[in-house]
Amino acid sequence: MAKQYETVIGLEVHVELATKTKIFCSCSTSFGGAPNTHTCPVCTGMPGSLPVLNKQVVEYAIAIGLATNCEITRVCKFDRKNYFYPDNPQNYQISQLYLPIARNGYVEIETGDTKKKVRIHEMHMEEDAGKLVHDEWDDTSIVDYNRSGVPLVEIVSEPDMRSADEVLAYLEKLRMIIQYLGASDCKLQEGSMRADVNLSVREMGSGKFGTRTEMKNLNSFKAIARAIEGERQRQIELLEEGRAVVQETRRWDDNKEYSYAMRSKEDAQDYRYFPEPDLVPVMIDEAWIEKIKMMQPELRDEKLARYKKEYEIPEYDARIITESKHMADIFEKAAAICKNPKKVSNWLMVETLRLLKESGMEPEEIRFSPENLAKLVKLTDSGDINSSVAKQVFVKMFEENTDPESYVKEHGLRTVNDEGELRAVLEQVIADNPQAAADYKSGKEKALGALVGQTMKIMRGKANPGQVNQRLKELLG
Ligand SMILES: [Zn+2]
Repeated sequence: MAKQYETVIGLEVHVELATKTKIFCSCSTSFGGAPNTHTCPVCTGMPGSLPVLNKQVVEYAIAIGLATNCEITRVCKFDRKNYFYPDNPQNYQISQLYLPIARNGYVEIETGDTKKKVRIHEMHMEEDAGKLVHDEWDDTSIVDYNRSGVPLVEIVSEPDMRSADEVLAYLEKLRMIIQYLGASDCKLQEGSMRADVNLSVREMGSGKFGTRTEMKNLNSFKAIARAIEGERQRQIELLEEGRAVVQETRRWDDNKEYSYAMRSKEDAQDYRYFPEPDLVPVMIDEAWIEKIKMMQPELRDEKLARYKKEYEIPEYDARIITESKHMADIFEKAAAICKNPKKVSNWLMVETLRLLKESGMEPEEIRFSPENLAKLVKLTDSGDINSSVAKQVFVKMFEENTDPESYVKEHGLRTVNDEGELRAVLEQVIADNPQAAADYKSGKEKALGALVGQTMKIMRGKANPGQVNQRLKELLG
């Protein structure tokens, strides 16, 4: 009988924090400036320069630690991780090894109907490295230090995950917690959230861990899922052939769907860590933690529970809306203005999701304001515009955040409620379509549809279809 294998996965997740300035100097962290323009002696590792810790970094780290059920270290310190690489001008990275800011946390994940806790071993603060550019000039690599010194937290999980689905649920959970806190935008494609996957396989039922490899260069959820499947297969094949898995760092090539060995996996002692002599320990007292707790916003799980109770929208809708903090904000504000949460939810669930998908946008990129969405709901609630006009106005609003009230006014889209005008059109339609009128009179209900269609066409959609239907029936006796 073929052997059954179990996959064991732990994750190291790096998250760039949303501070305005870098972790140890006052250079800007904004993405995409001309190379080496957001730099100073500190973040380019000039001898004699001294780092000063950015308080906001510590506050974000505490907020993330609290939201992931970690214990916050009251006296935490920085350490030097020594290594040479051209993107690292100091030849060391300021990180935390001995006393990281947070430890022993967990997040709860859901896959299908199963809930499970993934434990967090620790979270530490550190600085990012610069960026090497290899292909601009022949035979030369150039380096941009704008990213050097951008603050990161690294969240290290226990090896608690057993499948790609669990890994994606865990990442999704972290992403939502951190986005809700406003501590990072967590974009995998832009590198503000990065995941390294530690993976090993073992025979089902075995209590011992197999030899693990670490995979880097994973910049989308899909790439992560494919890399996990690819690496799992590779390790099982080695074991089946009676060969050993080598402990190493591998680079996943998502185009070729294969991972390549980069270097043998290093241990902490290879970096000759020692306490960072240029920074004082960070003392975190109860009062500071309490203050950050008080400022903690409502997180996704709490919001979800409240939506179901307060707005009476289906669980499915509430889940999708709260998946994005931005969308949830729009929902709450619009619902508060127009007092019709169900209609607001419908616009988000149907037309908004459709247009987002069509234009390849993320919910965070929605541009229309809650005020305008509320206006659109009011215009339909009052019968001032019908549903097909509303859809047309919504597309404009989605594209350019157009004010629906002025748009409807400027384009004369208001539903015609003038009985006299409507009656004149209906009489004309009946006169022009004697056959359909006769058919309806002789009992063919369907014939009415053609007459309604003709009327709506002549009125360029500005009539209320229900009302047209009613009036036609009356006129045809
Ligand atoms: Zn700097």
